[in-house]
Amino acid sequence: METRLVRIDEKQIDEALVKEAGDVIRAGGLVAFPTETVYGLGGDALNAASSEKIYRAKGRPSDNPLIVHIADMEALAVIVREIPASAVKLAERFWPGPLTMILNKADIVPCETTGGLDTVAVRMPVHPVARELIRAAGGYVAAPSANRSGRPSPTSAKYVVEDLNGRIEMIVDGGDVEIGLESTIIDLTTTPPVILRPGYITGQMLQEVLGEVAEDHTMMRDDSGQAPKAPGMKYRHYAPRGELTIVDGTAQNVVEYINGKVAEARRAHKKTGVICTDASLKQYRADVCKSAGERSDEEAVARKLYRILREFDDEDVEIIYAESFCADGFGQAIMNRLLKAAGHKVVHLS
Ligand code: AMP
Ligand code: MG
Repeated sequence: METRLVRIDEKQIDEALVKEAGDVIRAGGLVAFPTETVYGLGGDALNAASSEKIYRAKGRPSDNPLIVHIADMEALAVIVREIPASAVKLAERFWPGPLTMILNKADIVPCETTGGLDTVAVRMPVHPVARELIRAAGGYVAAPSANRSGRPSPTSAKYVVEDLNGRIEMIVDGGDVEIGLESTIIDLTTTPPVILRPGYITGQMLQEVLGEVAEDHTMMRDDSGQAPKAPGMKYRHYAPRGELTIVDGTAQNVVEYINGKVAEARRAHKKTGVICTDASLKQYRADVCKSAGERSDEEAVARKLYRILREFDDEDVEIIYAESFCADGFGQAIMNRLLKAAGHKVVHLS
């Protein structure tokens, strides 16, 4: 299949192009598009065949449910059985934006879209191109991240091309994304509501609106031995091809430990990489050292993380060490993705 690549500037949206992209989705095709979190791979959420195509294009296991993207509250009422007061409160505060809510699904949503579940994940993105495309596509766009399954989510169109060129009808290039990590997911079908995936909207922000909020036990820990709450959580994610280990400890100890390990790996003729911060960049002696920015600037770190993981693949790095990041607030989302990318391999130095 030939994939058409078009560019749509969010400040000057080309309505004719948006309509063409919407028509592709209405006709059962797939269009990758920018959102504020990461690039999404969109298909008609109410068309079972479209969802099946999404799974095929990504190489994603079909029991890993998709998030349905909508552009207004009227659309929410169509796809869920009832809208609880908690969902209304969260929507007022955080929609449009990087928050996904799990609710009981209406019959109109095919099981293919929800991975066979009776619940549906819904998000209303704020990115202007995403919003217009959703409307042009009929209002209900199922969109997982636009990467091949297991790889880091794409934060710019060039990575979508890398993963999906020739497998989907169209890619809309809208420039680099704003946030760089996937949406926060909260399950509202349980009491108390449970955060299934941390993101830009933090636990504290959700608590301020909802009162008590729980966290899924697999969020920051190795989930290999436990049944996951959300099916998709059992799969390896965001992983670079090289072997990634996180090292946690005081700044000096971490640098010394990693440099020791790097020297060892190089003696074994392995190409080495380090993920660090501006303050420590010059102290490492790996083949490829990449700074995620200033440690205190979590938004910048989040924006860069997936790009860095992909760049290690481009440079064929085999052994990667990463500094650890603070896991509070938005940092929890950063560490959640880094831990998954590392398969939870962490060295704790005293
Ligand atoms: P993404 O790859 O960003 O599209 O993320 C989709 C993730 O959302 C899945 O892997 C699940 O973890 C979660 N999810 C989607 N739908 C549901 C649902 N109905 N119930 C629980 N989790 C869901
Ligand atoms: Mg994904």
